[in-house]
Amino acid sequence: TKSLASRVNTLSPSTTLAITAKAKEMKESGIDVIGLGAGEPDYNTPANIIEAAYTSMKEGKTKYTPAGGLPALKDAIIQKLQKDQGLDYSRKEIMIGIGAKHVLYTLFQVILNPDDEVIIPSPYWVSYPEQVKLAGGVPVHIEGTAAALFKVTAQQIRDAVTSKTKAVIINSPGNPTGMIYSKEELQQIADACQDKDIWIISDEIYEKLVYDGAKHVSVAQLSDDAKKRTLLINGVSKSHSMTGWRIGYIAGDAEVVNAMTDLASHSTSNPTTTSQYATIEAYNGPQDAVETMRKAFESRLEQVYPQLSAIPGFNVIKPQGAFYLLPDVSEAVKNTGFANVDDFAAALLTTANVAVIPGSGFGSPDTIRLSYATSIELLEEAIRRIHAFVEANW
Ligand code: PLP
Repeated sequence: TKSLASRVNTLSPSTTLAITAKAKEMKESGIDVIGLGAGEPDYNTPANIIEAAYTSMKEGKTKYTPAGGLPALKDAIIQKLQKDQGLDYSRKEIMIGIGAKHVLYTLFQVILNPDDEVIIPSPYWVSYPEQVKLAGGVPVHIEGTAAALFKVTAQQIRDAVTSKTKAVIINSPGNPTGMIYSKEELQQIADACQDKDIWIISDEIYEKLVYDGAKHVSVAQLSDDAKKRTLLINGVSKSHSMTGWRIGYIAGDAEVVNAMTDLASHSTSNPTTTSQYATIEAYNGPQDAVETMRKAFESRLEQVYPQLSAIPGFNVIKPQGAFYLLPDVSEAVKNTGFANVDDFAAALLTTANVAVIPGSGFGSPDTIRLSYATSIELLEEAIRRIHAFVEANW
């Protein structure tokens, strides 16, 4: 019959995209909505990158490229990983795809057999469990509690490993938590993964967005073994404000990368050629825009963190990276009479006209996620509205 495949039966649409769409719809109908749902920087892509893309097109570089990406872009990524992380990779250990999201999707397709398990610390980025399920795998959640700053321990990973475990995902700096794993914590996690012989999928997409002197360390830097078992995921979406260009990559095991490249050769042919040329400039050109944006996010965080913390019933841990705040709002929800955080967030959108993402989609049902990738004026106004909304319903 014409019924849908069973693999999409349990697929839930991205909550982030759904709320953002609803907010956009309200805005278009003339309602003054402030969207704090965004998962992307509010800056345009730096001009030199746009210029490089334009030049490449005028030069006729508008055709297919190798499935795993242009050799020149692989070289730019290799240099970036050498310069920033001190990690040495060769071209056959790099594969470029349609954003980190699709690279992760392709990765799960090539490493998971039916019922293979992937350990996913919560709160997690919404797409991890869905992508694991789409590859026939089973997401196994371990909880990073608020008391543990939303991070998991090596012991939790050890306890969750079974004979079916293939990998654990580490996302540092994290979405939605904004938390960063220290070198020591990563070392313990790497040791656990070595003992249990599982892959470490290290999603480092927020690498450049770290605050208050915090340092990003890649787990792949910690030892030869850690490097061999780490499948490092990164891209230019967040670092260079290039979300729409759709370029991400993996660095790691050549056999995995080769299988991913073969799969891409039948599914995408190649990441958009123009975007690849833009990314070469993003990595080889001046990096000052990256630091300018980082500083702007940091100063917004410093400004709004106290304001958000002052809302009754909001318990907020100060994030160290990325551009999200993840207040635990359970007390506010209880005292305002809403049944749950989803209802609270829905009312916040319809009555206070502020769009936030309820944490249920992140495996964190007591929280809401606010993005501070928006202007300070809008942020402050949004927080004023949320504050008034809570007080009015208290
Ligand atoms: N990983 C995390 C944790 C993210 O938050 C995102 C984007 O929101 C991505 C990966 C995907 O980024 P992209 O596909 O734009 O490279």
